Amino acid sequence: MDEAEVKSKKGPGRLCYICNQKKPALKRPKTLEQICKECFYAVFEEEIHRVIVDNQLFKPGERIAIGASGGKDSTVLAYVLSELNRRHNYGLDLFLLSVDEGITGYRDDSLETVKRNEIQYGLPLKVVSYKDLYGWTMDEIVKMIGLKNNCTFCGVFRRQALDRGAALLKVDKLATGHNADDIAETILLNILRGDIARLSRCTSITTGEDGPIPRCKPFKYTYEKEIIFTYAYFKRLDYFSTECIYSPNAYRGFAREFIKDLERIRPRAILDIIKSGENFRISTSTKMPEQGTCERCGYISSQKWCKACVLLEGLNRGLPKLGIGRTRGPLGIEQRTQRSMQSKQCGTLDF
Ligand code: SF4
Ligand code: ZN
Repeated sequence: MDEAEVKSKKGPGRLCYICNQKKPALKRPKTLEQICKECFYAVFEEEIHRVIVDNQLFKPGERIAIGASGGKDSTVLAYVLSELNRRHNYGLDLFLLSVDEGITGYRDDSLETVKRNEIQYGLPLKVVSYKDLYGWTMDEIVKMIGLKNNCTFCGVFRRQALDRGAALLKVDKLATGHNADDIAETILLNILRGDIARLSRCTSITTGEDGPIPRCKPFKYTYEKEIIFTYAYFKRLDYFSTECIYSPNAYRGFAREFIKDLERIRPRAILDIIKSGENFRISTSTKMPEQGTCERCGYISSQKWCKACVLLEGLNRGLPKLGIGRTRGPLGIEQRTQRSMQSKQCGTLDF
């Protein structure tokens, strides 16, 4: 490449940094390169393909459920995964899996979006509901407990609901739309809370390989801005963008804002945080919880009862604080559920 070519490539937004032919349509948040729409689609999809291949996220012939909330991240994930599956012959059977928490005016509307995605992308959809699985909707839970610990209940119930839905679909793995910003935020929260067990888990691209259904995050290194403001927007994907009406998680919100501030000064900050999280090593003297199974429902648990069963027992007995914070559970076991569960809250997180 001669000097003139280099100049034209690096010139102030004249031509696309990659193809050097078309006018740039955007500046990549990750690299600040000015590129055209077509080159953006190509690099965006190729980067995700590389993450999938390099980390061996899927094997040919596997059945994969995509956790689909109707939100931007999971809609883009469903779209991109079905494209890549076709283009690169992954040989995957893809499904959409949604959880209906029973939140009127929020989840009922977003589920309509997922139902449209089912048709648009030709992916079979399975919906599991809190009402069917637990006998309670989030609307009913909030009516009983108020808006203080609602996300704790919801996060614990969602985790199991996704596993149960995945079992019904007989899938080998669950792919979720967690993006780089979400992961950086969770790393920061786990550091702030001193939650070492979750710190090491939240940075892994695949988790739960020893549990019922492994989960993977193909967007682990993908910036939220590129998913939402660029890809979903330019491709005119059909997604739902209203936030949950019961989302008062201020702590996560501050962590999110802090990361956005850092990103403004240093675009790589998000990837740096993920890298730091990956490089944390747990000292061998740190006692990690042992995994067993819940005596009541058989779900994985490090206590006699899993968190969902403890919370459900509280709801059914009219004692919703049971299982929240450091209290004695129904079997006399000390529960420290709130602290360890808070990192599960989704806040504005899309699954
Ligand atoms: Fe559930 Fe998320 Fe709404 Fe909290 S913000 S109630 S976790 S959907
Ligand atoms: Zn249980």
